[in-house]
Amino acid sequence: NTSASDIAGPAPRHQTTKVMVGNVAVGGGAPIVVQSMTNTDTADIDGTVAQVAALARAGSEMVRITVDREEAAAAVPHIREQLDKRGITTPLIGDFHYIGHKLLTDYPACAEALAKYRINPGNVGFKDKRDTQFSTIIELANKYGKPVRIGANWGSLDQELLSKLMDENAASANPRDARAVMREAMVQSALLSAARAQELGMPKDRIILSAKVSAVQDLIAVYQDLAARSDYAIHLGLTEAGMGSKGIVASSAALGILLQQGIGDTIRISLTPEPGGDRTLEVQVAQELLQTMGFRTFVPLVAACPGCGRTTSTTFQELARSIQDFIREEMPGWKTQYPGVEALNVAVMGCIVNGPGESKHANIGISLPGTGEAPAAPVFVDGKKFRTLRGPTIAADFKALVIDYIDQ
Ligand code: SF4
Repeated sequence: NTSASDIAGPAPRHQTTKVMVGNVAVGGGAPIVVQSMTNTDTADIDGTVAQVAALARAGSEMVRITVDREEAAAAVPHIREQLDKRGITTPLIGDFHYIGHKLLTDYPACAEALAKYRINPGNVGFKDKRDTQFSTIIELANKYGKPVRIGANWGSLDQELLSKLMDENAASANPRDARAVMREAMVQSALLSAARAQELGMPKDRIILSAKVSAVQDLIAVYQDLAARSDYAIHLGLTEAGMGSKGIVASSAALGILLQQGIGDTIRISLTPEPGGDRTLEVQVAQELLQTMGFRTFVPLVAACPGCGRTTSTTFQELARSIQDFIREEMPGWKTQYPGVEALNVAVMGCIVNGPGESKHANIGISLPGTGEAPAAPVFVDGKKFRTLRGPTIAADFKALVIDYIDQ
């Protein structure tokens, strides 16, 4: 006698092998980890330290930096050192392409300072002359005791593997469409590389896989397949998601579906920042996605009604914005500061229609007066009416009550 609404929640997490990236656990049932990537020139030590620090402060639990040339590799240990001096322990991940084997060989301090190496099997393959490149990185990772992420990418797919699969497909009695073959190539590229890494002595608990695509439906299909065919820890991300709302919507749609299916141990939201825009937006979106879906708690959630013709003034929008901004700016990492607090919901509502009801469901909520209502704003705390605010200082008074509530 159950109906669909009796059951709420995601599928059980896909069982994966736990990987330690520095001091952060990924997979094996650990909380889903938020990560991000800098867009500074890694050779610019001060600029990169500043951005890693900003990302870490925003809540990024691991930060990837590109290591594309000798100057960048030489800078990495200094970046680590400066972060350590500031008390920022966030693990740094080196993003390597083409010459990673050479940089890790020639710059041992870089190899030591990084907590994980990202390998792109599309440009450091193992089946051809580039085998030594792949095996060199794996051997160095083994030597330094570092995990790797084998990150296949639609835009740099292993062309030799793809050609082989395309030829096999063309010769088969029931050929699949070309896109399905490309998805299979993505999955195989990651899985075959992981198997080769294990042959080279890398334990499974040092391997994370990703297979990023820019189209939402392809991404979902690829990751479902990857999860069905292995138990490696999984890094989720939609590549080239784009700018602004487009990137946020596409990433949230794709990652939300996979997370609901129990797939994904760490996520990165790849947003193209607006010119001069804030890089930390990708961390904020990742946190909000995980929190909205109920996987983790990072910051108090502010529920605000959309407002309508019943809202009398701009007080409502201003208050909702001001509470949201206050929480974001003043309380990053609030869960660390307020241990034991599992979730906090703040409601800012525009009138009596849904105001009192929604406010009672929140930990603390306010129902502002709508059109024709008496100029009074009841505040509800833990489901009960607590106080009524009046006058021009309603916003400041409510903010003070929120701070008091959190402190208690
Ligand atoms: Fe409009 Fe009131 Fe509903 Fe807000 S709670 S959207 S102001 S009717």
